[in-house]
Amino acid sequence: MKTKRILVISSISLLVTVGIFLIVYFRRVPVVYQEEEAFLMGTRLRVVLASKRFSSKSLADNVISEFRRIDAKFDPYREDSAIYKLNHSSGWVKVDKETYNLVETAVRYCQTTGGAFDPTLGKLITLWGFDKFDEKKSFKVPSESDIKQALKNSGCDKVEFDDRDMMIKTNGVWIDLGGIAKGYALERAYALVKGLDPDATGFIDIGGEIRIIGPKYGRAPWVIGVRDPRGSDVIDYLYLKKGAVSTSGDYERYFIVNGKRYCHILDPKTGYPAGGARSVTVIADDGVTADVYSTAGFVMAKDWRYVLVHFPELGMQVMMVLSDGKMVKSDGFEYYENPR
Ligand code: AMP
Ligand code: MG
Repeated sequence: MKTKRILVISSISLLVTVGIFLIVYFRRVPVVYQEEEAFLMGTRLRVVLASKRFSSKSLADNVISEFRRIDAKFDPYREDSAIYKLNHSSGWVKVDKETYNLVETAVRYCQTTGGAFDPTLGKLITLWGFDKFDEKKSFKVPSESDIKQALKNSGCDKVEFDDRDMMIKTNGVWIDLGGIAKGYALERAYALVKGLDPDATGFIDIGGEIRIIGPKYGRAPWVIGVRDPRGSDVIDYLYLKKGAVSTSGDYERYFIVNGKRYCHILDPKTGYPAGGARSVTVIADDGVTADVYSTAGFVMAKDWRYVLVHFPELGMQVMMVLSDGKMVKSDGFEYYENPR
């Protein structure tokens, strides 16, 4: 009698448990990713987001608006931008907090990368014609004397800061934040999305520079293809659940004269395009670090052995396609080449 009662109770609880499980399982809202695209910063912006708390579409639209705001504010060649104003004024210029912080951060990276990342190359970049997008006709190899002159008007040590009154003095150099602006925008967008919904997942891709918002369906890595710098194939797949990845390459913006390739990343020491690598891919915890160090790594590529040891010491992993096509990777890079 007692055994029978226990049996009945157990069966009922089993049924209830199975029932609850089935209800919970089938009522779970499927995660649907919203995908939005825009063209800005001279490249394609792709936002892939899913949120259960907000409309994924409005989150993605917010991200695009934030990118547009940053693009307009920090494009040094737009006459109404904060950086244009800074570059075309002599003496101390009062700037807003965001501009102050970003320029100061960029100059600090100039110091930590031994000058490889240099946000004061605006005059050189203009001389080479890399200040304008989509205007191939403006590309030219400048004369050596022009390069020397523009080199004299660059250098992070020339920029002065007054943190009390939030003023900057450029002393004749032109600030160009092209090597950090995408990473900065990615971090701002990340903070914006996570501030609204900490559980949002997805990623943001600005011209191949990617910030993970959260793993796919909350658990799986996103698969990221690294482009062959001399073709359209993918040469490697990376699996990321968090953090950021950025590739700087000589295939993004370049021109060829007499069989020689001239790309948009300049060596601040010589004033000529850096030539040690075809592409440098950096995986880091955040978009700014990945962006800055992929540009710096590209400039430092002749010293690739140093880069492969030094970058991991700073918490990054790096892969480089050298100028002869050889592929080299830091020791921990492999971790991201396997789905986990
Ligand atoms: P990225 O594609 O992130 O490597 O950035 C390249 C952009 O950064 C160029 O289009 C320039 O606006 C700027 N730039 C070029 N050379 C350098 C350099 N040595 N350091 C910092 N920024 C640079
Ligand atoms: Mg960069």
